[in-house]
This record gives sequence, C-alpha cells and structure tokens, in this order.
Amino acid sequence: MPSLNLQILVAAVLGLAFGWLTGLMPTDSELRLGVIYASTLIGSIFVGLLQMVLIPLVFTSIAVGVANLQAHRQVNRVWMSTLAYFVLTLGLATLVALIASNLFRPGAGLSIELFADAMDSFEARQLTLPEFFLHFFANLFQNPFAAFANGSILAVVVFAMFMGVALVTGGERYRNILLVLQEFLELIMRIVSWIMRLAPLGILALLIRLVAEQDVALLSAVGGFIALVFATTLFHGLVVLPGILFFITGKSPLWFWRGAREALVTAFATSSSAATLPISLRCAEQLKVRREVASFVLPLGATMNMDGTALYEAAAALFVANLVGIELSFAQQMVVFLTAMIASTGAPGIPSAGMVTMVMVLQAVGLPAEAIAILLPIDRLLDTVRTAVNVEGDIVGSLVVDKLAPQ
Ligand code: ASP
Repeated sequence: MPSLNLQILVAAVLGLAFGWLTGLMPTDSELRLGVIYASTLIGSIFVGLLQMVLIPLVFTSIAVGVANLQAHRQVNRVWMSTLAYFVLTLGLATLVALIASNLFRPGAGLSIELFADAMDSFEARQLTLPEFFLHFFANLFQNPFAAFANGSILAVVVFAMFMGVALVTGGERYRNILLVLQEFLELIMRIVSWIMRLAPLGILALLIRLVAEQDVALLSAVGGFIALVFATTLFHGLVVLPGILFFITGKSPLWFWRGAREALVTAFATSSSAATLPISLRCAEQLKVRREVASFVLPLGATMNMDGTALYEAAAALFVANLVGIELSFAQQMVVFLTAMIASTGAPGIPSAGMVTMVMVLQAVGLPAEAIAILLPIDRLLDTVRTAVNVEGDIVGSLVVDKLAPQ
C-alpha cells in the first residue's frame, strides 16, 4: 500500500481529471448526475467527519497548549511572535496583490454592463467598519456551551485560553483536569488518524464535483482576473512564505511541502481552513513542531491568519474599481490594504467566507457592494488555492514561532 501522503496526491490528480471528464458529459446524462450525486455524498461525509472533531479539538488543543506554555513561562514570547508573524505575512500578501493589480490592471478593458443583470438581482448586506468591529468583539465572548453548539470557533478559542491560563495559575489543584484534557486531546487525534484513512476518497470526491460544476464560458469572461489571483497567490505560497521559513528556520521548502502536503491538499479540496485544522495539527507534528506551540498557533491561525484571503480581497477590490472605471488614489489603496487585512482576519475558515467580509473592503473606498455578484460564481474555484495558502501560512507560522520561542 503506498503511503497516505502519496495516496492523497494521486487522489487529487485523479479528482481533477475525472471532474473534467464529468464536466464534458451532457448536463442531463444519467452518468453525470450519478457521479455528481456520489461525489457530493462522499465529499460531505468526509467534511462532516472533520467538522465533527473540530470543536472538541480546538478547545482541548488550545487549553492544553496555553497551559503548557504558561507553565514554561513562554506564553508572552509565543503570543508576540505569533502576532508579529500574522501581521507581517498578511501585510506582505496584501502588498503582493496591490502591486500586481496596479501593474496588470485586471478588468480595465471589460464593461460593467456585462454584469448588470447579476448585480441588479443581488442584494448586498451592509457591513461598515464600525459594524464589523462591533460584531467581531461582541462574538469574542460567549457562553461556551452556545459557542460549542454553534461552532463559533473564535469564541471557543478565547474560552480555551482563559481555561489554559487558569489551569496553570491554579497550580496543583487542577492537575487532574489538565491531565484529563491532555488525554482527551490524544483521543481526538486518534479519531483524526482514522478519518485520515478516508481522506484520499474524500478529496477525490470533492474535486470531481468542484471541477465538473465549473461554468467555462463565465470563467473565460473574467479569465485575466482569475489568472492574476492564481499567480499572485501562488507567488505568495511558493516564494514569500517559503522565503520567510528559510530565512528564520533554515528549513528547505521541499522538506516543508513534503511534511505539510496532506493539509495543503485537504485545504485545496475542502476550501475550509477550519475543516483542515485536524490535519494541519497532524502535519505540524510530522514537521516536529512542539505540540504546545502547534496547539496554540494553528487553531488561532485557522480563524485569523488568512494570507490568501487578504490577498484576494485586495485584488478583488482593485478589479471592481477597474470594472466600474474608478481610479483609486494612493490613499484609497492604503485603505484597501488595511481593510483587506482586517476583513480577512474576521473571516471564519469556511468556504467563501472571504466573500462576506469583502463587502467591507469595497464599501470602505466607496465601491458598489453589489459587485460581489460578479465574483460569487468564480469564488468556489478561487477559494481552492486561497485556502491552501491560508493553511500553508498557519503551518509555516507554527514552525517560525517554534524557532523563535526558546525551548
Ligand atoms: N475558505 C477560506 C478558508 O477557509 C476563507 C475564505 O473564504 O477566504 O481559509
């Protein structure tokens, strides 16, 4: 039996190929409908299984991770380097998008009239910056049981951090609770390793459906923009992040990709950093990141550190500006830079989450929020690479923080 890593890679390639073949069949053919039905079923079972373990995993891994860091008096150092890394990489990703969009000006030759119908029938939800902050902070602190039940990851993260610190400051008294949580974490990781056996099949199914359902005519209309987003996202994932990794830890990109491949392919196929988190934690373990560091950086990163999303939101804002014929000044582009970073941080790690928070970026510089309607049909496709780079950023972050925080 080939290794799981290899099986996943082969599944991804086969998924793209079979998806393409399925897309060629007539839309009402029995075979095509059957293939799409089967792949939807298998894909949702795989994603459902990952989501099943997600919340208990986030809670235990953060609580145990923070407790262990606190015990070794490393919390501050880890906090600082994690935040510095998030801000630096998000900033670089957004900068890459702004530079490339200014150079290539996607959308400049297209007429907005082409999209008038889609925009007319689209009702954009308002999301101004103050509203966004209100919503963000109000959601941070919640009844933990409600947060568990609703899957509000950020609120679970916050509660788990409080628990982690309290477990250590309480000392010996709470030793048993800490032990139970530690064992619970191991237990969940055992279940994750079972789910992973299904990963090749799940990824095959998710990709078949994704590729088979693309509308080729529509894709070619905005082909220039799609190419620009893919190219810049790949640049960030293949050059910028590996560069930072090499500069800080001395590790080679090939070594990294070999260890992180399972998570990257899963992120590509599921378009969800949150659903990929159980696998990211496994990969960080393979890459020898200390468990307490990975347990802290990865869940936080899966909800807050989204390089691919920040890059996309900035590129999309400039694309819409070109479409409607507005020239954004340097100051306005700075507003795009900042809001894209903030908006990506607020997007939860689920498919197309970036689309919702992008309204805020458009509104901040007076662009029509309805323009999202143009981007929605191509979003599922762009979400693949963007989520893979989001997850790559998190795993590179865990390696960087592991290096910067003393053993
Ligand atoms: N799907 C992305 C993620 O889970 C979020 C986004 O829509 O940009 O990381």
